Amino acid sequence: MTTRQHDDALLIRGGLVVPMARDREFFVGDVAVRGGRIEAVGKLDAEAAAGRRVLDAGGAAVLPGFVQGHVHVVQSLLRHQAEGLELLDWLRLRTLPYEAALDGDAVEAAAELGIAELLCGGTTAALDFGTTHDHERVFRAAARLGVRLCSGKTHMDLGEGTPAALLEDRDRSLAEAAELGDRWHGAADGRLSYVVAPRFALSCTPELLAGCVALARGRGWLLATHAAESRAEVEAVRGLTGCGNISYLDRCGLTGGDVVLAHGIHLEPGDRELLAATGTTICHCPGANLKLGSGIADVPALLAAGVRVALGADGPPCNNRLSVFHEMALAATLPALRHGPAAIDPWRVLAMATRDGAAALHLGHEIGTLEAGKAADLVVVDLEDWSMLPAGDPASRIVFGGSAQMVRHVLVAGRPLVVDGTLVAADPVALAQRVGDAWEATRRRMEERA
Ligand SMILES: [Zn+2]
Repeated sequence: MTTRQHDDALLIRGGLVVPMARDREFFVGDVAVRGGRIEAVGKLDAEAAAGRRVLDAGGAAVLPGFVQGHVHVVQSLLRHQAEGLELLDWLRLRTLPYEAALDGDAVEAAAELGIAELLCGGTTAALDFGTTHDHERVFRAAARLGVRLCSGKTHMDLGEGTPAALLEDRDRSLAEAAELGDRWHGAADGRLSYVVAPRFALSCTPELLAGCVALARGRGWLLATHAAESRAEVEAVRGLTGCGNISYLDRCGLTGGDVVLAHGIHLEPGDRELLAATGTTICHCPGANLKLGSGIADVPALLAAGVRVALGADGPPCNNRLSVFHEMALAATLPALRHGPAAIDPWRVLAMATRDGAAALHLGHEIGTLEAGKAADLVVVDLEDWSMLPAGDPASRIVFGGSAQMVRHVLVAGRPLVVDGTLVAADPVALAQRVGDAWEATRRRMEERA
């Protein structure tokens, strides 16, 4: 838990600034940063640069750091190792055995890999699900690498075929979450926060879900879970509880302005109105939904009903990348199948990936737009790549033409974590070695247990 202050004064100079406080606002200018916060945004004079470290944003867009509302960095070592499976088999045959085989070192290496990928792809903040154990190690990695992370261990006390190592005693599971949250919520100068994260309706008894809700609301922490992702899941929830997935979660207290539900694809009549009325966020994860063949959430209908929608890449083994650009391009194009090519404005998609994601994480006062006084979480995206040329509306260029490889600089709380496309928050060569070693050790443990 660092209390280090990042007081270095910086100037992000000469970029196409897209503050995202209002749609369609952009101008060539600079962003001045001091003490971890945005000091000024606009066309600053030469004096403003005096005594500051300058990061060049010429030929690039300067945006608020991207926010993802649903990821699992702990699953990163299983990337490219869980192919061709629908959700429930993907969990039962690959992902849960993998999570059961992780030890503390592997949890930390997986988290480092996921966080490094997020940062290098311009994602500065995320809501993250852990596994059931060793979650301390995710927070340690996040504290060290400098990302802004709202994260929590997951909870499971139910589930046919769930590895014994992941099935928890309810009281112990809740006590562990309370202890983790008490230690890490607000740590690292406020960059880290805790989310109570039961995996999904099928992995938790109603008593465990009620315990999660009571813990989160008692402490003022967020709640997150998965909902209405696949048809088989929705049918199983109905078989178990006698009601629809969203209705069941609502009955358990898992709706509200402090709740982020991943997916929201297979909804029932009245669900959208319920989500809107309760202020519940849906985190749209189109990349993972397509790969697992789960379906396509009807985002224009959710937005029209007044539901807040964030974006997330979900897990590395079901995507297989954590790129917000991939999710933005899909979120901007998939609605055309149902509603025609004008179904969603790229500015709306850019808002989902910035200020709406920040609001879902209850961080709208701190991040999500470039405004004086907010935390200096920002990303500089190259506009000179072939797919960005020759010109056009900045939201179109970034949403349809952008990719993670175009990210030039990334700051979180004023600290440069990626400079000229290179991760400076950690030694990339040593990290890649740790990741390879951790996957080998985990793979061996998975084979021994199979
Ligand atoms: Zn997920």
